[in-house]
Amino acid sequence: MANTFTEPESSPLLLLLGEGQDPLSERGVDCPGGLPAPSDPNLVQRAEAARQALGDRAFILGHHYQRDEVIAFADVTGDSFKLAQKAAARPDSEFIVFCGVHFMAESADILTTDEQIVVLPDMAAGCSMADMAAADQVEDAWRTLESVGVADATIPVTYMNSTAAIKAFTGEHGGTICTSSNAEQSLRWAFEQGEKVLFLPDQHLGRNTAVLDLGLDLSDCVVFDPHRPGGGLTPQQLADARMILWRGHCSVHGRFTEQSVDEIRAKVPDVNVLVHPECRHEVVLKADYVGSTEYIIKALAAAEPGSSWAIGTELNLVRRLAEEHQDKRIMFLDRTICYCSTMNRIDLPHLVWALVSLAEDRIVNQIVVGPATAHWARVALDRMLALPGVGAVPSD
Ligand code: 13P
Ligand code: SF4
Repeated sequence: MANTFTEPESSPLLLLLGEGQDPLSERGVDCPGGLPAPSDPNLVQRAEAARQALGDRAFILGHHYQRDEVIAFADVTGDSFKLAQKAAARPDSEFIVFCGVHFMAESADILTTDEQIVVLPDMAAGCSMADMAAADQVEDAWRTLESVGVADATIPVTYMNSTAAIKAFTGEHGGTICTSSNAEQSLRWAFEQGEKVLFLPDQHLGRNTAVLDLGLDLSDCVVFDPHRPGGGLTPQQLADARMILWRGHCSVHGRFTEQSVDEIRAKVPDVNVLVHPECRHEVVLKADYVGSTEYIIKALAAAEPGSSWAIGTELNLVRRLAEEHQDKRIMFLDRTICYCSTMNRIDLPHLVWALVSLAEDRIVNQIVVGPATAHWARVALDRMLALPGVGAVPSD
């Protein structure tokens, strides 16, 4: 048989970094002033010296999924929401160094003063989930809802893990932001304002909260696929749905499976399975507990010595929890899943580079959200902060 296979043209989707093909996607690949080598034996001393030189001018935030080497320099650690609040509560710090991912640094920029500078040590630290809802796709989806006559009855609820543009869309269309710690309150609020919710961009958090916390039926939820005409849904499906879930997910949490839960239960019969609500619905149904990163941390702090726990969230956090609670048996829920690759972009060389640059008054990797976007995103964030019990700044 003739060999008819021809090597395909290289796809424009395959981005060769460092070749100047797409400056936006390659942001962060280049570090002006020189990125220290990971093998530099003086990295820790250099970071300490720059940190000391900056003093109170800088405030370093570290998300729970960051590497140990970065967490060691964080002035405060937390989930995305707590870190945004902590940034907002530091108006005297000239530089907010955000060790997390891009959407978190954007939220910090929105919530801090115009004079403050928010820096993300590596601009390539994005979030694949946030990237699954682009502004033009969401605008198109809204036009679809308008064309079938359901937009007026629909309130957008957008997960913190989204770009500032999507947050702004939410603010402009009467909706609110939510985090994994307050998704239930946000959804309850939204159903008081309208009949339906457009939940962006994480279908799993939306479905888990609607079904498990609000008591909706799975059949009340439909998935809107931005890559298909009309979201892949009929006008009748859109009219009947109460939750219109955007087809987005977390590439880390979405990989935990029912099989992971079955395997750990077979091996450790008294295990408590505790997962993040970004996990698939089937996994959450099989778990004993479900909650945000802050919830997971608190649950383990309160757990009985000697108890066993399998945790379904990012590995850096689970590893640190296992080290911290050596009187408990703490395991990662799955053997094959690894770290969040974008969170891990922030490493000690990038942190040293950012701190040294700032100490030398060179502003690098500043995150700036434009004024119109910031205004509407802030409207949506403020609606969340006004929900009962949500807005208080945590004391630790
Ligand atoms: P938190 O809101 O719990 O910080 O989660 C952020 C995140 O990226 C989870 O994948
Ligand atoms: Fe995004 Fe998932 Fe990574 Fe969180 S863990 S930053 S949602 S890809």
